[in-house]
Amino acid sequence: MTLADAIRTIPDHPKPGIQFRDITTLLADPRAFRRAIEELVQPFIGARVDKVAGIEARGFILGGAVAHQLCAGFVPLRKKGKLPHRTRSVAYTLEYGVDEMEIHEDAVGAGETVVLIDDLIATGGTALAAVELLNQSGARLIGASFVVDLPELGGADRLRALGVEVASLVSFSGH
Ligand code: AMP
Repeated sequence: MTLADAIRTIPDHPKPGIQFRDITTLLADPRAFRRAIEELVQPFIGARVDKVAGIEARGFILGGAVAHQLCAGFVPLRKKGKLPHRTRSVAYTLEYGVDEMEIHEDAVGAGETVVLIDDLIATGGTALAAVELLNQSGARLIGASFVVDLPELGGADRLRALGVEVASLVSFSGH
């Protein structure tokens, strides 16, 4: 079984034309989950990683496991209003309207090496906001890794254009 086989596709969710790539089936499969974490960690073995930053909410599950494996700390990047201490915030565009993502202002020290993790990159809007928050924090971003890339939506290329090392485990065509 491949990692792609462990991901469930829900057609026309949450709206017509979107193929929703549901990783809950991968997370529930012990072998697929372990393999996904091993593959996410692979590019960073031997590197010094101070922190893993995960994007709410599926990036918390994956990023927590990756941080554990790399003996790194974990930093949550959350939707507006969820973090209790002082935050940095960045607005980003979604398909409908805008949203805001936040990080605790003391979560990453200047010069700390950070790996960014999320389940999926599509247009890259979410990941670009995360990169901006990490840059504002003074982080040295050494990579951004995703279980799924939707390359036709261009997000991975947008990140690469900023000089970010992007890795993904599975690519699906279309939206
Ligand atoms: P984007 O900002 O366009 O790169 O979208 C990435 C975020 O939206 C990730 O946090 C994903 O969890 C979610 N997302 C976008 N498109 C899909 C999709 N087709 N299936 C599942 N999740 C998606």
